[in-house]
Amino acid sequence: MKRIALFPGTFDPITVGHVNIVERALHLFDEIVIGIGHNSSKNTLFPLEQRLEWIRDIFKDEPKVSAAIYEGLTVNYCEKIEAGYILRGLRTMSDFDYEKNIAQMNKIVFHKVETIFIMCDPAYTPVSSSIVRDLIRNNGDVSEFIPSQVKYQL
Ligand code: ADP
Repeated sequence: MKRIALFPGTFDPITVGHVNIVERALHLFDEIVIGIGHNSSKNTLFPLEQRLEWIRDIFKDEPKVSAAIYEGLTVNYCEKIEAGYILRGLRTMSDFDYEKNIAQMNKIVFHKVETIFIMCDPAYTPVSSSIVRDLIRNNGDVSEFIPSQVKYQL
């Protein structure tokens, strides 16, 4: 059976930290689907299609990685695409507290799925989409924190 992992997130925008997690997880799985969760009540800076396009462009030469938009429960989407694993990155203890609850709830709701955590590379601990968004809104330089494919105009 194929080892398929879903890497769910908002990716508003995708950062070098996210890319690092995917690259390091590649040898663990046969396929990684980067799933952009669509939550209509969440205000994002960049439109869904734009976020999807960036991710597809970044991983265009990596056949094991694909990207998609999904709605609803992450575990339901795992079932749909036959992903046995949810991939998440951990930066800090507060990430861990938050992720632990979600992983345990997901396991209760859908016992076939295992959440796999990868510790953030120390260089990427301070990198977050929310800080990148703040910098972008205030005309800061974000080139160090986002892949070169992420091009935008506000
Ligand atoms: P969410 O809104 O679900 O937190 P994000 O797009 O912010 O979505 O993050 C998706 C995943 O990537 C989460 O598991 C998050 O912890 C992880 N992540 C975010 N930034 C980094 C980083 N700099 N290094 C490692 N993992 C990260």
